Amino acid sequence: MSTRAAQDYLAALDSVIESTIAPRATDVDRSGAFPRSNLEALAKERLLGLVSAKDAGGGGHGLAAATEVIERLAGACGSTAMVLLMHYSATPVIEAYGNAEVRGAIARDEHLTTLAFSEAGSRSHFWAPLSTAADGGGQVRLDAQKSWVTSAGEADSYVWSSRPLSVEGPMTLWLVPSRSAGLTVRGAFDGLGLRGNASSPVTAEGVQVGHDTMLGADGAGLDIALQLVLPHFLVLNAAFSLGLMEALVAKAAEHLTRTRLEHLGQTLAQQQPHRARFARLRIRTDEVRAFLRDTLAALDTGREDATLRVLEIKAVAGEAASDVADGVMRLCGGSAFRKEFGVERLFRDALAARVMAPTTEALHDFVGRATLGLPLL
Ligand SMILES: Cc1cc2nc3c(=O)[nH]c(=O)nc-3n(C[C@H](O)[C@H](O)[C@H](O)COP(=O)(O)OP(=O)(O)OC[C@H]3O[C@@H](n4cnc5c(N)ncnc54)[C@H](O)[C@@H]3O)c2cc1C
Repeated sequence: MSTRAAQDYLAALDSVIESTIAPRATDVDRSGAFPRSNLEALAKERLLGLVSAKDAGGGGHGLAAATEVIERLAGACGSTAMVLLMHYSATPVIEAYGNAEVRGAIARDEHLTTLAFSEAGSRSHFWAPLSTAADGGGQVRLDAQKSWVTSAGEADSYVWSSRPLSVEGPMTLWLVPSRSAGLTVRGAFDGLGLRGNASSPVTAEGVQVGHDTMLGADGAGLDIALQLVLPHFLVLNAAFSLGLMEALVAKAAEHLTRTRLEHLGQTLAQQQPHRARFARLRIRTDEVRAFLRDTLAALDTGREDATLRVLEIKAVAGEAASDVADGVMRLCGGSAFRKEFGVERLFRDALAARVMAPTTEALHDFVGRATLGLPLL
């Protein structure tokens, strides 16, 4: 079976965005409802299984393909993009260590997964889970207070971190079915932005899972997360920020070219200060695109600086997205302050990336450590 050509899945994606996702984006934002029908439409176009291996029945595509999908979705509906971003970030661990049944279900677009790393106790320091796994009666008992899980109660499974079962080490990973007894979603998500992504806290009280749900070896979870989850999450998060920036800059261009100063007989685009401010936002967006392309090229060719680029890219893009969002709000003036123009939703969505773990501050520390010869953690 040959890999579906990029133009095929991107054309399918564009069609779903136009017919289904973009028209509902305002409703998803206002209601905060999980965009279930958007996910169904994406599944119908085989986009949930895009990065699953072909031998499992998936699309067999890599990170570059997922990056394009997330960028396009983010500009249309940030909530839907974040749900898929988490699914694509969790899938590589399941591909590497999960059972054939779940791998196949993801590949067939029948299963949505996500990451359950952040905890109430260690907050954005995901590398230090406090939640526990304990042996008992042939099963494993999981207890946790997860502080944020995108698609909480909506995904079919959680890639779940805990302290190790019986060895020394920072972390063990599990594939936890979301319908397991003892799991509770602590209220509906009512966020500033990405309002439909269902990022609620989830608690686990005496959740029983089989030993076979362990992903990789006991105690090896942090290494696996750093190798398999982090590169996907960081690069896709940058693509997410880039998609929002492109949508914001397009909105600004629309405003400047169609809005007139009637007393001067000119559009706003014909005003030099407006043009210069717009240009700065355009350049910032293009800088992020160039950095993202370079990061993907570094990964693709195994370049020596690939890991460094990966550690840098989310901080570069997340901060740029916040700055560009603020710049577009200012440039478009009172028009942007009104919901109907659509800029304020993009602005709110753009603020999430910098506080998603690893946060910008954590990444600055990682980059400093990596370039000063210190261990990452
Ligand atoms: C929309 C959204 C979706 C999310 N989805 C998921 C998900 O699916 N799965 C998941 O596991 N998590 C998810 N998260 C959680 C996310 O990854 C972070 O863990 C969470 O946003 C951290 O919030 P906090 O208040 O606990 O941060 P805190 O850890 O309290 O940090 C608050 C601020 O302090 C800074 N800070 C913290 N420690 C240091 C330090 N040592 N030095 C300098 N500065 C520091 C941080 O950078 C941040 O700016 C999501 C978050 C958001 C916003």
